[in-house]
Amino acid sequence: KPPVEPAPIRRLDVAVVNRIAAGEVIQRPASALKELLENSLDAGATNINVIVKDGGLKLIQISDNGHGIRYEDLPLLCERHTTSKLRDYDDLQSINTLGFRGEALASMTFVAHLSVTTMTAGKTHGYKVSYKDGVMEGDPRPCAAVKGTQILVENLFYNVVARKKAFKNPSEEYGRIVDVISRYAIHRTGASFSCKKHGDSRADVYTVVSSSRLDAIRSVYGPGVARDLIAVTASSDDETSSTFKMDGFISSANYSAKKTVMVLFINDRLVECAPLKKAIEVVYTTILPKASKPFLYVSIIIPPAHVDVNVHPTKREVSFLNQENLVDTIQRVVEAKLLDSNNSRTFYTQT
Ligand code: ADP
Ligand code: MG
Repeated sequence: KPPVEPAPIRRLDVAVVNRIAAGEVIQRPASALKELLENSLDAGATNINVIVKDGGLKLIQISDNGHGIRYEDLPLLCERHTTSKLRDYDDLQSINTLGFRGEALASMTFVAHLSVTTMTAGKTHGYKVSYKDGVMEGDPRPCAAVKGTQILVENLFYNVVARKKAFKNPSEEYGRIVDVISRYAIHRTGASFSCKKHGDSRADVYTVVSSSRLDAIRSVYGPGVARDLIAVTASSDDETSSTFKMDGFISSANYSAKKTVMVLFINDRLVECAPLKKAIEVVYTTILPKASKPFLYVSIIIPPAHVDVNVHPTKREVSFLNQENLVDTIQRVVEAKLLDSNNSRTFYTQT
């Protein structure tokens, strides 16, 4: 029964506010990993290695060879809304880093134990320091290091009992982590990636620098996927706001799978776009007899001013101008390519 008298409105404790906010940004181990990975890429890393224990609930360790973090910046590193990437609101229009809100590391310190080892170029030693609830714990201690940054996130959700309980299946969470790294690994062919479970000698994701996109897809998703791919490109440069460029790979008529895999990057951000996915799936079910689900890698570049990257706390979705036009154009291109590949297959099997 709802109370008749209004309860007094009170200001929440900052610690409560921060923990609630953290839960929005860091929804699960894979969202923490995604933020860490994007920080490494923003730092110019060309080599990123990840080690995971218990699906990321016990440990996520990420090591990169990026530019490192300056000693002077360590006290601010994990405070909320501190960033080296954004200065003014208007910068969001032309932002070319994956991060910009200065929330990810801070959020992690409210729901996990976080420690950092980092060294910038030209230094003879690095620093190691840990953080709790946004605050640096003690002074950074000098230590041996190589240029770059290593971050350890331990005991994720140790203080959010309900959240922690929700993750009953660590191997499912590990699968999500592998999925995020896999997607970045095939998009960022200029960097090498690895990911493995703590204690394993074999990596579950492993790519090397300078492999072609197709080579990267082969290493990550297997030869069975890479064999049956068709390159697609599309673009529109009319003077209106629907300018875009797209390139990617789509599975041919020979490929068969139970679930659609769509790896989508818009302006180099890993995102989801349900309408685009739907539009392409429709093409496959219409053209291919056995309702096979496609594998799709799609990278779309649109003018930064046409994208709003700030519509979702995890940046999982973006909104952009003329979405319908763009989806239509891509759908037509995919349809033409797939028809082509299906026809040549029929021809091949008849002779
Ligand atoms: P954002 O990425 O939005 O700036 P984060 O909380 O993810 O916010 O990171 C805060 C800051 O810490 C970044 O702006 C960056 O300066 C620094 N940083 C985080 N991770 C790394 C890294 N791996 N290498 C170098 N600098 C980093
Ligand atoms: Mg970040």
